[in-house]
Parts: sequence; structure tokens; C-alpha cells
Amino acid sequence: MYINGKWEKETKNTFDVYNPANGEKIGKIPNGNGLDAKRAITAAHDAFKAWSVLTAYQRSRYLYDAYTIMMDQKEHLAQTMTAEQGKPIGAARNEVQYGADFLLWFAEEAKRVYGETIPAPRPDQRFMVLHQPIGVVGAITPWNYPISMITRKIAPALAAGCTVVLKPAEATPLCAVEIFKILEQASIPQGVVNLVTALNPKPIGDEYLANPLVRKLTFTGSTKVGKLLAKGAAEHMKRISLELGGHAPFIVFEDADPIYAAKGAMLVKFLNTGQACISPNRIFVHQSGLNAFIDEAEKRVAAMKAGNGMDPSVRVGPLVGPEALAKVEQQVQDAVQKGAELIIGGKRLSDHGLDKGFFYAPTILSGVTPDMRIYREETFGPVAPIIPFENEDEVIEMANDTNYGLASYVYTRDISRAMRLFEALRFGIVGINDINPTAAAAPFGGMKESGLGREGGREGIAEYLETKLGGFSI
Ligand code: ADP
Repeated sequence: MYINGKWEKETKNTFDVYNPANGEKIGKIPNGNGLDAKRAITAAHDAFKAWSVLTAYQRSRYLYDAYTIMMDQKEHLAQTMTAEQGKPIGAARNEVQYGADFLLWFAEEAKRVYGETIPAPRPDQRFMVLHQPIGVVGAITPWNYPISMITRKIAPALAAGCTVVLKPAEATPLCAVEIFKILEQASIPQGVVNLVTALNPKPIGDEYLANPLVRKLTFTGSTKVGKLLAKGAAEHMKRISLELGGHAPFIVFEDADPIYAAKGAMLVKFLNTGQACISPNRIFVHQSGLNAFIDEAEKRVAAMKAGNGMDPSVRVGPLVGPEALAKVEQQVQDAVQKGAELIIGGKRLSDHGLDKGFFYAPTILSGVTPDMRIYREETFGPVAPIIPFENEDEVIEMANDTNYGLASYVYTRDISRAMRLFEALRFGIVGINDINPTAAAAPFGGMKESGLGREGGREGIAEYLETKLGGFSI
């Protein structure tokens, strides 16, 4: 843990961290509690006074420095991530770059927190709008993107002038420690960033909610926990940003090339073993291209090697743990029982030592129907469910028929259709022939039960700012 500028390594109460690819123990981490969170919040509150009044240029400098240090440590960070979280090393390198991009982007955005003057109704009156940092931020991050989800929150918070307490996911605290070492090396003043690690997240979350010094909560994780935090935050009317689950539709129209679309769909579906909130969860393919799409998808999946992500030829890493594996197994079993066709995969992988980790074969199901659990529940695993459709209106309705609204994907070569779909889909992100519509410069976030607020982009820093109106009579 890192509280008030000091590392707290030696506590009797610790928990172990494991490599999900082989079950090996790879670290031991302090098991923090509500009191630790309280100390960290107090430190962040004390630090806020000086940090919030630095010039934007000064805060920006710290973020630039952190970016430079992070880039120097890219390979070390990627290896830590693969060992702790399991994703293939190439994907880990990409994530480290994506994570560093937030430091750079918000180093720049820090200097663009512009206010406004507004014409006032009275001749003697002037209006001025000012943006100021909210205060202490309580952040909670998930294990699936264990580095970029941290910088995506900390960078805009610091740029805005807020101070932060972070609780990373219990499965991936080592990545968080590495990021905090970088923030320390960048000489970020004591108390401005604090790290509280814990095996049981609840007491930390409860302290964030109960402690009136925390003015803002930012969370990435499940919709279930997001709702709990939103309810709790209402008590003190804390500002919240929530990035929650998803159930992304991926629509392939008759005018798209089914081969090209299958390539895109399989790449994005099996990214991070399907453990992403923007992972396609319903792949709608027009009847006319269905066979070609399935053939190509099957060919690609057959060539995907599962295993330890340190092996550069591996494309599919392990699932995070036994519950994740059980959920995937149950969803596939349920779909097959209800009539889905198993094209490939459909089983746990255990040969060649894979039984020591939580591996599930990359799987394709076709003929998926609304009565199957997978049609509505987020899978968070390597399963591609294919659903045939016949016309545009029907598929828009099916795609929007979900409580989630994070990412969506459309493959079409018709520009008018692309525009219609972009407007009609009720999702915060729409990729048109594009499987990676994300970047530090772009607003990321969902509608409906996928969350509140946006991260990255111009919007990202606004989440950490209050708007203040000054009325002057002259
Ligand atoms: P997932 O199912 O993807 O693990 P969670 O929402 O359970 O998603 O976890 C995301 C983050 O939320 C993790 O850091 C986890 O420790 C934290 N978390 C889980 N439950 C709570 C809670 N009751 N209060 C605060 N944080 C929580």
C-alpha cells in the first residue's frame, strides 16, 4: 500500500496473488481495511489544498514525467501484467501503451480546462464560469485491464487538480503497485495519490461512501457493484462515474464482406479471452452471408492457440478464476441444451498442463435464440454466439433489446446504412467496420445499465470538475 507518500509493505495481514495460467503464487500484498482507506482519504484531503492550486502547467509536468517513466518500463509492466492477469504478452504491451496514453493525453488536457464568460441580462452584470477540481476521488478498478483502467482514472483526476485513493482489484494488485512506483518516481507530492490494496473490497468501498471527505467516486466493474455504489453515493450526494458491464451487438449486413467481418469479429471477441466490457456478446449475421461467415470464423478459431501468455504464439489466455470458468461452461451448456449448434470449442482445456489454469476453448455457437442465457447475460469469456437475421429494422430492434449500452459494432459497405445505424444504436460506442473504436482521445462509456459518465477524451477531465458560476455586479 502507498499512503501519504510512504510504502507500507510490512503488515502481518497479507494476501497472495496467483498467475491464472498456472496457479503459481507470484506475490504477497498487504490486506488493507476500512481504517487504511480512512487514513488514505485523510492524506488525500490534506494534499488537496496544495495540489489543487498548482498551475495547470505544473500538474501537467508531473503527468508528462509519469508518462516518460512508464514508457521506459513498458516491457517490465507488460510482463507483470501477463504473469498476473494472463493476457498474451502482445496484448499486454498494447495495454501498457494505451494506459500510458492517458497520462500523455491528460497532461495536455490539464491546460485546457477553459472557463467561459456569458452575456448577462443586466447592463451592470457580468457572468463568468469557472471549473474547479471536485476534491478527493475514491477510485476502484477491475482486473481485466489492470493498468489502463488505473491511468484512465488517475490521469484526469490529477490533471483536474483532484487527489486520489485507489483500490485495485484483488486479483491484480501487482500491476497497481508498479503504476504507483511510477507515480512516486515522477515525484508526485505526498498524499496526492494513495493505494489501498485489499482482499475484501467492501470495507474500502464502504469507507469511500461513508467518509464525507470523498467527493467523487469512479468505478469500473460489474453493473451489480456499480449499482451498490451509486445507491451509497446518494447519501452524501457524491459525484459518480461508472463504467459497467456490456452486451455488445456485432452486426454483419448483407453488403459487408463476410470474410472480412468474420476476421474482425473473431479478433475482438477473443481479445483478452472475451474478458472485456466491449466484447461482442451477440453476433448478428445476415442470412445471406451466414455460411461464409461461420466457415471463416471457425477456421480462425481453430488456429488460435490457448496457453500461457508469455509464449508469443499464444492468442488466448486463461480466464481469471474458477467462477468465470463455471459461468462460461453454464452458458454454453444452456445454449446447446436449448438448440444452439456448437461449431467449435465448447469445453474446458486441460491438456499440456492447462488444467493448472482456468482455460476454456475458444468457442463458436450458431443459432442462438432469445431464450438462451447467453443472449442476455454478459459472458466475459471466449464464446462467440451467432444469431441470423433478415432485415435492418429487425436487427436494430434486436441489438437495442438489452439493458446494457456500452459498445456495438456494424459491418456494412453502405454509407447511408452506416449513418442510420450510428444514429439508431443505443450504445455509447459504435464501431463501423472498426473493431477498436477506443483511444485516450475518445470518450469511452455507456448508456443504460452500462454506466454513467465518460472516460478519456475531452469529457474525461470534466468528470473531475465542478462548474462554478460567478455573477458580478460592476
Ligand atoms: P468483476 O465481476 O468483474 O470482478 P466486480 O464489480 O466484482 O467485477 O469488481 C470490480 C472491482 O470492484 C474490483 O476492484 C472489486 O474488488 C471491487 N468491488 C467488488 N465488490 C465491491 C464492493 N461491495 N464495494 C466496493 N468495491 C467492490
